[in-house]
Amino acid sequence: MAKGQIYIVVERCKACGFCVEFCPTKVLALSSAFNSKGYHPPHVIHPENCSGCNLCGMYCPDFAIYGNKIAGGNKIAVGGSHES
Ligand code: SF4
Ligand code: SF4
Repeated sequence: MAKGQIYIVVERCKACGFCVEFCPTKVLALSSAFNSKGYHPPHVIHPENCSGCNLCGMYCPDFAIYGNKIAGGNKIAVGGSHES
């Protein structure tokens, strides 16, 4: 089961690929889809491997992605998670 959750703000992405490259568990890949600026944003290919380490968020120059650790039990992950 995934320990982390990834949030991607597709429209901010410039497709530099840092998040894909630096994710230690290879959770991400650049999508074949375009955002409105004409870039290929990342998408999640192995969500079960995400640890929520947020290395993707630390390397992203455009604040377009971040990861959160999922809290144990039925708690909501801390920081930036919204219930809808
Ligand atoms: S939070 Fe960590 S494990 Fe999850 S996608 Fe980002 S870099 Fe990869
Ligand atoms: S690091 Fe940020 S800007 Fe670069 S591909 Fe990933 S989400 Fe897009």
